[in-house]
Amino acid sequence: MLNAEKIRQDFPILNRQVNGKPLVYLDNAATSQTPQQVIDVIVDYYANYNANIHRGVHTLSQEATDKYEEARHIIQKHFNAKHAHEIIMTAGTTHGINLVASGFTNILQKGDEVLVSALEHHSNIVPWQMLCQKTGATLKVIPMNTEGELLLTDYEALLSEKTKLVFVNHISNALGTINPIEYIINKAHKVGAAVLVDGAQACPHLKADMQALDVDFYVVSAHKMCGPTGVGMLYGKEKWLSKLPPYQGGGEMISEVTFQKSTYADLPHKFEAGTPNICGGIAFGAAINYMNRIGFSEIAAYEHELLTYATTELQAIDGLKIYGTAKEKTSVISFNIKGIHPYDIGTLLDKMGIAVRTGHHCAQPIMNFYQIPGTVRASFAFYNTKKEVDALVAGVKKAKMMLS
Ligand SMILES: *Cc1c(COP(=O)(O)O)cnc(C)c1O
Repeated sequence: MLNAEKIRQDFPILNRQVNGKPLVYLDNAATSQTPQQVIDVIVDYYANYNANIHRGVHTLSQEATDKYEEARHIIQKHFNAKHAHEIIMTAGTTHGINLVASGFTNILQKGDEVLVSALEHHSNIVPWQMLCQKTGATLKVIPMNTEGELLLTDYEALLSEKTKLVFVNHISNALGTINPIEYIINKAHKVGAAVLVDGAQACPHLKADMQALDVDFYVVSAHKMCGPTGVGMLYGKEKWLSKLPPYQGGGEMISEVTFQKSTYADLPHKFEAGTPNICGGIAFGAAINYMNRIGFSEIAAYEHELLTYATTELQAIDGLKIYGTAKEKTSVISFNIKGIHPYDIGTLLDKMGIAVRTGHHCAQPIMNFYQIPGTVRASFAFYNTKKEVDALVAGVKKAKMMLS
């Protein structure tokens, strides 16, 4: 079993005090914390080999290029993509989704249908709405039940030869539901539709295998898995990435440029215009290595234990309701206390040094489904402890007493 107390020593920020209390960081679904091993890689880059990549003959540029491409290979191996050129370095999940949505502008036509799940983050809804406005395609929604699970029979009824694309998250950031994406992908492929999976919330909890899933597109953000912000991965099957036009024009993405015409570079560079987040990409690779050293099956088992313990303890509080009780669920707990606004609970918890998220969690359609303005969300990582769950439970009880 994973030793969280020992692991915590890797994370300098966890020694912080907030409002005079030891920090209890339970907002991991918004962003994860960064271990010293990754911080060291960032410092080393700027201290020793900061240079632009892919174009310099000088030593620093070569070193930076080698490290950056090494990171791409670490990412490829981790997600088990067939080719390194199927890994596009992005600014994060939102960027990756917009890249794909933009690429379909000239492929989708009026009469085509795209399906989006009821559990999506705004970043996996809005770009598709924009795409539908441009192309005349129709957006349809895969509904959910009160447990926070997608209704698969309804999904299958929605699928037809008109369906061109399906968007679904691997894990819901608002409720923690783990979606049966293998099944969803399989059914979509039977009608010839492509599937984009938003893996932003899954990447810190499990290892997704691109080839086994047979997924068409998969997007993640490094900052959800112990890496820096502003960098991420878009995985795309070679056949799709070859077909889609470039997202942005600029340096790095061309093969030849004249004022009459430009030809585009090969994959992955076709989609990587401009100077990328070089340091961020290298640190992303380091974060993946760090998490793999701990081990994803150990992480999953430990987090499940935290989830079970926290669920039991929180449920025992009178008037507390948990939203999202899917059978397959990760370490995210969204809840409210009867008669109290989530924001007030979050504010009082902060006074006690406990960081949780309050509000709609960029998933307003889910909040509308439950007819609530938002929830308090506690999300646990492998470096959280049962002691911190106890602090949360005591904090919520105290907040409840003060507010009712
Ligand atoms: C965090 C998150 C996003 C957005 O990621 P960015 O890094 O802000 O682009 C999208 N979807 C889900 C499920 C998320 O958890």
